[in-house]
Amino acid sequence: MYRITPLKMAEISVPIGVVQMMGDMRALVTGPVFVWVIDGGDEKIVVDAGVEEAKNGLVHGFPGKGGGEKSLREALERANMKPEDVDKLIITHLHFDHVANAKLFHNARIYVQKREWESALNPPMHYRQTYDENMILPLEEMDLCLVCGDAEVAEGIRVVLLPGHTKGLQGVSVRTEKGDYLIAGDHFYTYFNFFPPKQQVEFTDAAGNKVQFPPATTPFVPPGLHVDLSEWYESCFKALSTVRKQNILPGHDPSLDGRSFP
Ligand SMILES: [Zn+2]
Repeated sequence: MYRITPLKMAEISVPIGVVQMMGDMRALVTGPVFVWVIDGGDEKIVVDAGVEEAKNGLVHGFPGKGGGEKSLREALERANMKPEDVDKLIITHLHFDHVANAKLFHNARIYVQKREWESALNPPMHYRQTYDENMILPLEEMDLCLVCGDAEVAEGIRVVLLPGHTKGLQGVSVRTEKGDYLIAGDHFYTYFNFFPPKQQVEFTDAAGNKVQFPPATTPFVPPGLHVDLSEWYESCFKALSTVRKQNILPGHDPSLDGRSFP
């Protein structure tokens, strides 16, 4: 049986309205950037490859710190792993904060959805800044597997196509002794996207700042960045048909730092 460990390798700050649609676009919230280790099987499996190194306090135009090869290696060392040792790297989607260090996984088979690949190389206009060809095209020289829809990538580990945030975002369903878990990527940034507060709540972000999150009246609240909102809602129900709601792991929630699942 598997165990999932999100390892923080950077922090990045975005407006609350990016995490939660209709949220404040002037107030920043700082979230962790994780690489996820799935252990307990015969193979070394990692989900997502983190963000580039922050320069002058900015990551790809957003305030941030950490990132790059050094941070990735330090994060994986906490799981006694090097990128070169990894057998399989699953990329949830090709946004810059999920793929930047993929080229360090020289010996891994790399799994990306085919429609994510095609969309990343010809993105919708509002997503041009979130994709970087220099991070993506080198993967063509590697052991790249472009997946068409849901597929098993190892015994008990499946990729699940969840379009909406991007055209080809995939979650990763992982069998554990407490049932299946779903690494959701940015389909859900935080628990607020699928356990939305009924009243305004104060929340401590990854930088230790207090942030106000607005209340919601619907069971799901989309992030502010998406390609198709109808598809996003459909993917929420697909996620729920895959695992129990409490077994969904959002992409950038500070509360996940330092924990393992189950
Ligand atoms: Zn994203």
